Amino acid sequence: MPVTSQCRICDGIVQEFFDFGRQPLSDAFAEPARAGDNEFFFRLATGICTSCSMVQLMEEVPREEMFHEDYPYLSSGSSFMREHFGKLAERFRTTELTGPDPFIVELGCNDGIMLKALADAGIRHLGVEPSGGVADLAAAKGITVRKDFFEEKVASEIRAEQGPADVIYAANTLCHIPYMGSILRGVVNLLAPKGVFVFEDPYFADIVRRNSFDQIYDEHFFFFTAQSVREMAKLHGLELVDVERIPVHGGEVRYTLALAGARTPSAAVAELIAAEQEQKLTDFATLESFGANVRQIRDDLVSLLRELKDKGHRVVGYGATAKSATVLNFCGIGPDLIEFISDTSSTKQGRVTPGSHIPVKPPTEFAARYPDYAVLFAWNHAEEIMAKEQDFRDAGGRWIQYVPSVHVS
Ligand SMILES: [Zn+2]
Repeated sequence: MPVTSQCRICDGIVQEFFDFGRQPLSDAFAEPARAGDNEFFFRLATGICTSCSMVQLMEEVPREEMFHEDYPYLSSGSSFMREHFGKLAERFRTTELTGPDPFIVELGCNDGIMLKALADAGIRHLGVEPSGGVADLAAAKGITVRKDFFEEKVASEIRAEQGPADVIYAANTLCHIPYMGSILRGVVNLLAPKGVFVFEDPYFADIVRRNSFDQIYDEHFFFFTAQSVREMAKLHGLELVDVERIPVHGGEVRYTLALAGARTPSAAVAELIAAEQEQKLTDFATLESFGANVRQIRDDLVSLLRELKDKGHRVVGYGATAKSATVLNFCGIGPDLIEFISDTSSTKQGRVTPGSHIPVKPPTEFAARYPDYAVLFAWNHAEEIMAKEQDFRDAGGRWIQYVPSVHVS
């Protein structure tokens, strides 16, 4: 019997296509002495809705488990991302925020990387951010922040206090949220008649094309396509009016929604949906073949690491990313195969990785005695990292990557 669940968008039937097994929370880095104590695990599995085609997790992790006071991810950590959001802020300022006293709301504003430029330009804005620590960082930069989960009730309160929003924006946030109905009802309520709701998230077609299965972890509940976003929008009186491929986080799409009939959809929408149909993205056979590729990557990566260990080579990891949790736990890789993972985040250093319990150490440990091989878990920043770590290469070090397949360079 196929495993099914109920679609969080349309109440249709979701059919499972891949099971990653028991997984921890991707950001649960524990003190070494306490590793394994009361560790939270859930079954990470993906399915597709047979009605609206939305790809989603079969099981949901309570949001308070994930986005809490100590949420460790900082958007501003990468210069590439600072540039990405800076350009977008400028585009909003010159195209959408041009009326008298315009207003922009960002859901999951993180440390304020996008809103900062708009705040500096004196534009009325509000960041809604549930993770207290990063919300405080945004507030310290002069950004107006409300510490909350965005939902219908919060949207009504914002509208009552501040009036309608010309832009509602969310980066790498919407795909985190299982209770989408409440979000979209809130958006419809808060949006100005000609306003836009813009969000960018990992693109499922790129995940399938690149076998980037590590985009699948607790915090990513939905995996959007142009087709499923168009369906989702329709169900709420919204319309998908533009799509744009963006080369961040291993392949994302920026979707623009407007109130139904308010704007004319661009040609890009129909083009992207046609490309998805050509890729047979929602065919079960395509999804099963993606699953077969993922199992192959697991087998290849584990064999390679065992072989290197047998030959006496030192292997470390580079970047204790949320994505690495899926790779390490699905593949069953622990400190026996990877000595430690180098990471710049001080909140992870000195701790061990969730589930797999590999020590996390600062980059100084990496540079003090370069290993023979480094597994690049932050592969979406490969170019930036490889340029920065030229000394590792010069010392004879080699990079191991695992998407789209296992390779050493
Ligand atoms: Zn559905």
